[in-house]
Amino acid sequence: MHYTVLPYYRRFLNLFPDWTTLAGASLDELLKAWEGMGYYARARNLHALAKRVRAEHNGQLPDSAEALRELPGIGPYTAGAILSICFGHDVPAIDGNTRRVLCRVFNITADPTRPEGRRRLHELATLLLPPGQAGAFNQALMDLGATICTPRRPACSRCPWDEHCQAKQLNVQESLPVRQPRKPLSHHDIAAGVIWRNGWILIAQRPPSGLLGGLWEFPGGKREPGESMEECLLREIREELGIEIQVGQLLATVQHAYTHFRITLHAFHCHYVSGEPQNLACAAWKWVQPEELDDYAFPAANRTIIATLQTLDNPPDKE
Ligand code: SF4
Repeated sequence: MHYTVLPYYRRFLNLFPDWTTLAGASLDELLKAWEGMGYYARARNLHALAKRVRAEHNGQLPDSAEALRELPGIGPYTAGAILSICFGHDVPAIDGNTRRVLCRVFNITADPTRPEGRRRLHELATLLLPPGQAGAFNQALMDLGATICTPRRPACSRCPWDEHCQAKQLNVQESLPVRQPRKPLSHHDIAAGVIWRNGWILIAQRPPSGLLGGLWEFPGGKREPGESMEECLLREIREELGIEIQVGQLLATVQHAYTHFRITLHAFHCHYVSGEPQNLACAAWKWVQPEELDDYAFPAANRTIIATLQTLDNPPDKE
């Protein structure tokens, strides 16, 4: 079972116990509470959703698929889960786990991510629903997929459905569901600057939409072909903040994988030279003390830089 997020979840519910409280929080507060869970687009969608629920639905989630699907971040699976688990409607909720279980039990060889496969799964999942117990049934299927019918080496000997499972009888469990071959993940080198000025560090907030939107970071960006990391950093800082810096020693190198690409983040100590920071390609900027960094929501790779910074006895700006 994946219990890692449970403490985050409880803390989140304590901070934002209802839609109105969540809608009244700033995006910064929400991102800080979400920090460490990844998938930051979900946090932004949840914030937008809370505002819509407060403004358009009296602070209560609507109980129809049509109204739910109008709201940000709610697709067929989430709508099905809300309707069946929260409102007791007899509708399926098909997540990746349920999809895997159904494809195996019924030996579905159509690609479940394509329209034909999706339609068959939806029909099957609807047919199987025990009236009045869809919420429990949907959760049971998700749990079966998460704990027993796992992508690799499913524990068929412990499975309550093994006698009826066609994939098990045919010994094709691990080849279902059929998948499109994955493209290899692309890789980018990213330069980031820990820019010092009289003991203060400059941080920048990413624009609100897009990857890691609204999070704070050490400014920088992607290296262009033919650039050195230092040239990249000087250019990125000019483009993002309009200031001049001097690039110093390498502080840390961090490998990180996102869903569609991998990065190597090269973080350098830098010294502020001239210019007034501007929001040229960021939403906001701030000079902060090193001990204040924990007050802001940073992406995971930047957190590693902060951890490295916190181990320094003698930051370069104070030498
Ligand atoms: S018998 Fe095996 S493959 Fe079939 S549903 Fe159970 S765990 Fe999955």
